[in-house]
Amino acid sequence: MQYFDTLSNEMVDFVPREPGKVSIYACGPTVYDVPHLGHARTALTYDVIARFLRWRGFEVTMVANITDIDDKIIQRAAEEGTTETAIVETYTKAYIDQMDRLNIQHPEHRPRATEYVDEMQDVIQQLIDRDHAYVIDGQGVYFDVASFEDGYGKLVHRTAEDLREGAGARVEVDERKKDPLDFALWKAAKPGEPTWASPWGEGRPGWHIECVAMALDILGDGFDLHGGGTDLAFPHHENERSESEAAGHRFARGWIHSAMLNIGGEKMSKSLNNFKTLGDVLDMWDPRALRLAMLQTHYRKVMELGDEAMHGATAALDRLDAFKRRTSVLDLDAAAPLRAGEVTAFTEAMEHDFGAPAAVATIFELVRAGHIAVDNDDLAAASSIAATIDELTNALGLIAGAAGSDDPKSEIDDLVAQRQIARESKDFVESDRLRDELSARGIEVEDTAAGPIWRRV
Ligand SMILES: [Zn+2]
Repeated sequence: MQYFDTLSNEMVDFVPREPGKVSIYACGPTVYDVPHLGHARTALTYDVIARFLRWRGFEVTMVANITDIDDKIIQRAAEEGTTETAIVETYTKAYIDQMDRLNIQHPEHRPRATEYVDEMQDVIQQLIDRDHAYVIDGQGVYFDVASFEDGYGKLVHRTAEDLREGAGARVEVDERKKDPLDFALWKAAKPGEPTWASPWGEGRPGWHIECVAMALDILGDGFDLHGGGTDLAFPHHENERSESEAAGHRFARGWIHSAMLNIGGEKMSKSLNNFKTLGDVLDMWDPRALRLAMLQTHYRKVMELGDEAMHGATAALDRLDAFKRRTSVLDLDAAAPLRAGEVTAFTEAMEHDFGAPAAVATIFELVRAGHIAVDNDDLAAASSIAATIDELTNALGLIAGAAGSDDPKSEIDDLVAQRQIARESKDFVESDRLRDELSARGIEVEDTAAGPIWRRV
């Protein structure tokens, strides 16, 4: 199994720290607003990686944190005239609710930053003791990049000097910091903000130290994979890695970054006014269609998401669901052997840098073959295909025949059921009317001994 490691900047063999076990840390959201599509893409990337590794027999420990203390949370609470706690509770729930709709598995650990302040202070103290951090009175504790000069920038393949020029030009240099690249590990308290006691005075942790403390405390030194969106690689992940290693801890053995998401060709961001909430999209479409559309673009490629991709994914799901309905009334062999060729193709695709697009294509080739097998009354082939489709769709968290109850599909199910009742009571005028209505919607009803089956034509 191979994947593209951001740190070594090439494909590497997947060699876990402990045979058979995989530890993953994926940076989670800062909970000050409802989740958007970018959150969905990042979470889905690691959900599929974890699911696939479990399917391959690994024992996976996934950590996905909640950043529950941050300038944006404090600002939002002030704007809404409420507490930081209320903002955090509201948007943590919103995040988990929407991720549930997308069938994202819950991580084994979902730590909140504020539960790990002691562990963060321990790492900060280690950095001070090793001369990699310094205190500015009344301001906080800063990481000393120059003291880690050769180690800094490796994740993004830039030298510290290179990055320093960019940072110096970009941000106002704080005269009291030694270096424009230095960043806060501990921020001194400002009036009215949540604070914790520390050896360096009342204050709160900087963002990067949070993930270091949570990852090392839960997963231990040298855990297997660290992930997040490419927008987190610098400075967040570079700073996490530098803090951890400067403090004497081996950090992640491998790094996986998922690419950004564009909507309608524009980079997705609030400032460009094309911010779409995940909830909006999941209200509009079958959540499985969003999962499928995302799987159809490799996680390292920038994704263009628009109506075309969503319609394409919806049509593919319709064919999958139609196959499930057609086979649900057949006497299939539940113990039929899996199709070895497709299982191998699927596995090889996923083992090559989690190549979900090719893995998904294998599933839909099976769906096509499955319809042909049913058309030809080839029950043995249909049985094997159905079993293989179930196996492979489950491995990707893509459940066949499970449209949400608020999906237009349930409307069609209702019409089909009403028509069946009319037929049974010999009300042929009504049953013909319903058949015409279904037909106008592009639905063909097949009456079988076991009841009606519908499909889009
Ligand atoms: Zn992080």
